Amino acid sequence: MKFESTRHDSPAVSFGAALTQGLAPDGGLYVPQSWPSLPLAAFEGASSLSDVANVMLRPFVEGDGIAAELAAVTRDAFDFPAPLVPVTDDGKLSVLELFHGPTAAFKDFGARFLAACLQKLRQDASRPLNILVATSGDTGGAVAAAFHQRPGIVVSVLFPKGMVSPTQERQLTCWGDNVRSYRVHGTFDDCQRLVKEAFVDSSLKSRFELSSANSINLGRLLPQAVYYAATSLAVFRAHGVAPNFVIPSGNLGNSVACVWARKLGLPIGRVVLAHNANRAVPDFLQSGQWQPRPSIPTLASAMDVGSPSNLERLRALFPDLDSVRRAVRAESVSDAEIKARTIADFRQYGKTWCPHTATAAEVYARMSPAMRESGRWVLVSTAHPAKFREIVEPLTGARIEMPESLAKLFSRPVSCEELEPNLAALAGALATY
Ligand SMILES: *Cc1c(COP(=O)(O)O)cnc(C)c1O
Repeated sequence: MKFESTRHDSPAVSFGAALTQGLAPDGGLYVPQSWPSLPLAAFEGASSLSDVANVMLRPFVEGDGIAAELAAVTRDAFDFPAPLVPVTDDGKLSVLELFHGPTAAFKDFGARFLAACLQKLRQDASRPLNILVATSGDTGGAVAAAFHQRPGIVVSVLFPKGMVSPTQERQLTCWGDNVRSYRVHGTFDDCQRLVKEAFVDSSLKSRFELSSANSINLGRLLPQAVYYAATSLAVFRAHGVAPNFVIPSGNLGNSVACVWARKLGLPIGRVVLAHNANRAVPDFLQSGQWQPRPSIPTLASAMDVGSPSNLERLRALFPDLDSVRRAVRAESVSDAEIKARTIADFRQYGKTWCPHTATAAEVYARMSPAMRESGRWVLVSTAHPAKFREIVEPLTGARIEMPESLAKLFSRPVSCEELEPNLAALAGALATY
């Protein structure tokens, strides 16, 4: 299998090359050149995430060096569960908990799979791979956790000084070993600019082997299709119906993964995207006009994306507007609605949502009774509410128990270096590894 750029202006590459490059040279995103069809029978006997991953990802690694290592990679990456938990007694509504990984958010799945793949791909390399990550908060923690103590790889996490929450800063700086954290004297845009400049700087490129681990990397997106596959198979086997999903969405990585799983033939019904007040995607589906815009800050901050990159992948799959509209629906939820829904569902179901999950719960609650009754619905829970306790606890009035994984992070010592936002300073820092 080869992967091609959504912009069709650079050569198709292997799975391994797509992962190492991240972005295609023409600025596009890598997508599969063809879509294998996986009959349900192909998954016979597969129910755990790693078993399902082995079947589902097999065609994508075909012909790549990593194919022989796929079983080991999926065992390594999918080592925590994604339970489907009933919300209503009749089981018509459930929640898919994607927050049982090391940093208690769904990005752990993609980050761990990418890390496991890169470790294998690099095992005979003579010099280390330098992963540069610019983060405004959550992504950096998942990437740092996933790459921590993997041989042959060093990670530099760049975050803007004074602009991440104390909880987030702790998750970015508690690693050590092969993970270094830099408090950049600038904004998130400065961090991102610095990383982008590093990737195109010829002197830096010749001195260091640089790579990124950001969310547009194919190696983060593909593994996310695995939990949709495993969940839909479980529901279909038990009840004979294809579940519908409501997915909190920002950059659309999680929702495109669900659409990809359905494209591969998995029993998935409707895919509904729940956005916060950043409504570029809902507006696009309604008007047909694509108008990217600056992001606006909301309570569901990990979804504050004004111009979602993965829309390019959705449009590559569905070139005309009508077919996109048939493939997904999208709605926008305000901060006031996030708060009200958090309170209402705590009272009605005894469930505590993180603000991102609350957007999905709100979109579900808005549906007509006929739509809600039309099948089995799954709310996708993207983070543990403890990560956002300062928002959630005042709403529900109940203390949120810290999951063990997060508690562990909080007991680790922190270390961090200061960095001026220029390339010379970054090069100096990289040279000390
Ligand atoms: C990243 C993130 C999202 C948005 O996911 P996308 O793949 O960018 O659409 C939603 N919720 C949480 C908690 C996140 O960290």
